[in-house]
Amino acid sequence: MNTYLVGGSVRDQLLGSPIKDKDWVVVGSTPEEMIAKGYQPVGKDFPVFLHPKTHEEYALARTERKTAPGYRGFVVHAEPDITLEQDLARRDLTINAIAQADDGSLIDPFNGQQDLKDKVLRHVSPAFTEDPVRVLRIARFAARFDFTIADETKRLIQQMVAAKELDHLVSERVWQELVKALATDKPSLFFMALRGTGALASIFPEIDRLFGVPQVPKWHPEIDTGIHVMMVLDQAAKLSDEITVRFAALCHDLGKGTTPADVLPQHIGHEARSVELTASLCQRLRVPKDIQSLALKVAEYHTHVHLLFELRPATILKVIESLDAFRRPERFEQFMLAGEADFRGRPGYEKLAMPEKKAFKCCFLAAKAITAKPFVEAGLQGPAINEALRKQRIQSIKQVMDDIKQS
Ligand code: ATP
Ligand code: MG
Repeated sequence: MNTYLVGGSVRDQLLGSPIKDKDWVVVGSTPEEMIAKGYQPVGKDFPVFLHPKTHEEYALARTERKTAPGYRGFVVHAEPDITLEQDLARRDLTINAIAQADDGSLIDPFNGQQDLKDKVLRHVSPAFTEDPVRVLRIARFAARFDFTIADETKRLIQQMVAAKELDHLVSERVWQELVKALATDKPSLFFMALRGTGALASIFPEIDRLFGVPQVPKWHPEIDTGIHVMMVLDQAAKLSDEITVRFAALCHDLGKGTTPADVLPQHIGHEARSVELTASLCQRLRVPKDIQSLALKVAEYHTHVHLLFELRPATILKVIESLDAFRRPERFEQFMLAGEADFRGRPGYEKLAMPEKKAFKCCFLAAKAITAKPFVEAGLQGPAINEALRKQRIQSIKQVMDDIKQS
């Protein structure tokens, strides 16, 4: 049997990026032989094994044939006579279909190296259309490497969209790929790549809808809401590594996509609609609770951040309480990072400091410094403790804001 390094590890090595996990393909072997050599079988749907020592993944060379729609519709054929070239031909993109032999030589039947040089994402064969996950993968690679999608591949994806192939995507996979896309340095490229092929409307209709919707034109006639949200997302990626913050930035203005004409151009009430649309997006993708809950708070209260100096102290406290920030101070930080990304996500604001940032933090710290202990010691009981605590917190927030406004 012969083994070759394949896929992402060869690609990343040629790009000079760090290699995450090594994938191997094995030609001329059988499951029985692999097991006899101590490899541990792990594949449910196809023959994949873990190396007894390195625990890296070794897959028997295989071909795949689509026989029915959906995920289970593939017939896998892995026999010792399947060649390396046949295995490479079932892969999604030319840059992912390069193999490396033990002696370091490259096997590159689809000219993946040239596409790497040209920064192009190109499908290997027309079978690309058989798996809708590939549309998400290609957009994710567009974001990760800042590559463009080849015209002929774009056309294939457009066909997939028209044939409603993307309806077969399961939510777990969409979320998985979205998380990886959000982890890139410039996640907007993922959404712009999807938009450029028409896939955005099928996969994330609530984001697609934002394009062409005027952003409050009094302030920013030059951009629409879609562009604003993309800018906010990229700013969030600069400000924080956390998926939680980045996802909240993505969702914060979703309600602007469904603003009724009579409350345009100010988008009055868009926060409540953002909450609704974020909740349904999260439900559809089964977004983890913690990520979802910050996104909902940012959708509801992001305007409050920018209007801080006009808010009553009691309202400031309400926002902080609703974040559960006294128990979980990191939630306050995440909320403010999303707010700052929103502030910076406009032309000309990218490098500015948000004036409300420090003030809001001072309010939070002043309120947090007040605890229930003295009220309990003074003999207060039951709801009276909470009442006194809130009263004092509001007083402290008022003091902070008065001091700031005077200075
Ligand atoms: P990453 O760096 O995100 O791991 P990757 O390309 O290595 O990217 P893997 O999911 O690890 O992605 O897959 C390894 C290889 O398997 C890919 O490089 C590609 O050749 C092939 N592959 C993975 N998923 C698909 C798919 N949906 N369709 C076709 N080929 C795929
Ligand atoms: Mg990989």
